[in-house]
Amino acid sequence: MKTLDIVVPCYNEEEMLQIFYKEVSDNLKNIKWNVIFVNDGSNDNTLEVIRELENSYDNVKYISFSRNFGKESAIYAGLDYSTEDYVVLMDADLQDPPSLIPKMMEYIKEYDIVGTRRVTRKGEPFIRSFFARLFYKIANKITKIELVDGARDFRLMKREVVNAILDLKEYNRFSKGIFQWVGFETKWLEYENIERQKGESSWSFWELFKYSIEGIVSFTTAPLHIATITGIFFSIIAFLAIIVIVIKTLLFGEHVEGWPSTVSIILFLSGIQLFAAGIIGEYLAKIYLESKKRPIYIIKEKD
Ligand code: UDP
Ligand code: MG
Repeated sequence: MKTLDIVVPCYNEEEMLQIFYKEVSDNLKNIKWNVIFVNDGSNDNTLEVIRELENSYDNVKYISFSRNFGKESAIYAGLDYSTEDYVVLMDADLQDPPSLIPKMMEYIKEYDIVGTRRVTRKGEPFIRSFFARLFYKIANKITKIELVDGARDFRLMKREVVNAILDLKEYNRFSKGIFQWVGFETKWLEYENIERQKGESSWSFWELFKYSIEGIVSFTTAPLHIATITGIFFSIIAFLAIIVIVIKTLLFGEHVEGWPSTVSIILFLSGIQLFAAGIIGEYLAKIYLESKKRPIYIIKEKD
């Protein structure tokens, strides 16, 4: 039987980690496993709790960041630190049920990845699930990769898959896209949404919105093409309008009229221009950040 590395990003999870460890050990009686906690610059006692766990149990490893780098960076660091042939990625808040892991270990014999998806969004605010669904619809229309609605980061992967993910060294990491982008054969397990036991979700609505833009900008250049096409469309209309205006002026003379329509058109078109400039700016910002080649995370302490 192969050993399993469980990678857990932790941000302000002091209340969860003991419960988490116990819950995982209860469910993994027949499997050899290690846990790798990645302390993502928590400002509570998460690091102390992790040190205690590391002192008490042989199978606990950890890395601690110099500041909060975000879950995506914590995932990368944890995968980077893992060594075993099988790696599970899961949240510390037990929203990813450890009871699924034995079943995942069965399926990994036939697949490269065993992923999980939530079939319900029970307990999630309506607005949030509405926008989440909308995001998946739009993203799947305009990107070439297929994002799975409700797919969690909770997944079991073989070493080859982990290495492939680690090869994508981009600074702006959108894991949901990266996981799909690398390919491999995936078995999806479905489960009902489980609410967070303690602590609170660190995602605000605004952060989720920015995350959606991140997802789209990281995986498709479609918005740039849409801007170009819109530009061409309005240029054609403008060209036709010029012909009409010139002929009309020649035939009927010039009247100073049409102030409201002129202003409306100017406002409308400058809106579109700003929007298009904004899209270009998003990509430019990405190029700027990537070109600095900054590290994805900085470790301050490890086991
Ligand atoms: N997390 C992290 N860094 C952050 C935010 C979150 O490592 O900046 C971790 C967090 O500790 C948890 C997981 O990512 O283990 C998921 O976070 P959360 O439960 O807040 O997200 P949600 O379940 O609401 O998507
Ligand atoms: Mg959660």
